[in-house]
Amino acid sequence: MCHNINLNTFEQYRDVKMVEELNKLKEEGLIKYFGFSFHGTPEILKEVVKDYKWDFAQLQVNYLDWDVVKAHEQYDIVQALGIPVTVMEPLRGGGLVNLSEKAMAKLKENYPNTTPAEFGLRWAASQNNVVTVLSGMSNLKQMKENIAVFENFTPMDEKEIKVADEMAKIIQSQGEINCTACKYCMEVCPKGINIPAIFALYNQYKVTNSAFHLKIYYETLSENEKADKCIKCGLCNKNCPQNLPIPDLLAEVQKEYEKAKASA
Ligand code: SF4
Ligand code: SF4
Repeated sequence: MCHNINLNTFEQYRDVKMVEELNKLKEEGLIKYFGFSFHGTPEILKEVVKDYKWDFAQLQVNYLDWDVVKAHEQYDIVQALGIPVTVMEPLRGGGLVNLSEKAMAKLKENYPNTTPAEFGLRWAASQNNVVTVLSGMSNLKQMKENIAVFENFTPMDEKEIKVADEMAKIIQSQGEINCTACKYCMEVCPKGINIPAIFALYNQYKVTNSAFHLKIYYETLSENEKADKCIKCGLCNKNCPQNLPIPDLLAEVQKEYEKAKASA
């Protein structure tokens, strides 16, 4: 496993000819498969898969981030090349286990006997070409629950996928920053900043209090989508139905991200 490929580490892997070395070990029969885990932008991922033949790619795939941080773009890139996917963060560091009241109500209204963990794990495993779903566990009870999900695994049907999508929208619309992800602000932003995604990441951070997750997810945004590119023109404010002070909030998120980065 080439762990944690991003812009910086990919250069390092390339410099030491890591993939060439792994190929040699494979030819000698010392290893059977090699792959990478990825924490970067779709642009970097395209570079990573361009020149090498990987046996698998480990991506952050869950129903909340599918749109929020465009996880589906990364998934589509490796899917197009037929690279099998191992999923990390299927429950987003616990964020999809400890659901808000409204998101939980949506789940229970449709599937009263399903737990949030089961729902999130099944969603991840239902995507095509997923070979493994990794989930952090803290105790034996969680391990037994997770094993039970996969012992009699059935992929999600269309209705379940739709409910997951509705839950993602509910989660996105809640939290400290009352952004409904309507994207009207983005229609006028001259810098192309991904305002709703940034606010969704911040809201999740406030729920989980995980600086680690804020850092790794924020770094999946392209450089030009990030909050530090805001020029404070104020055009977005005029389009926001929630009257959010967007430039100030972006500055706040950027500050938190810098802190998270320093503590990582
Ligand atoms: S204030 Fe910032 S986020 Fe809003 S439109 Fe201008 S550049 Fe974009
Ligand atoms: S216009 Fe306001 S509510 Fe809509 S996505 Fe932008 S920040 Fe969120």
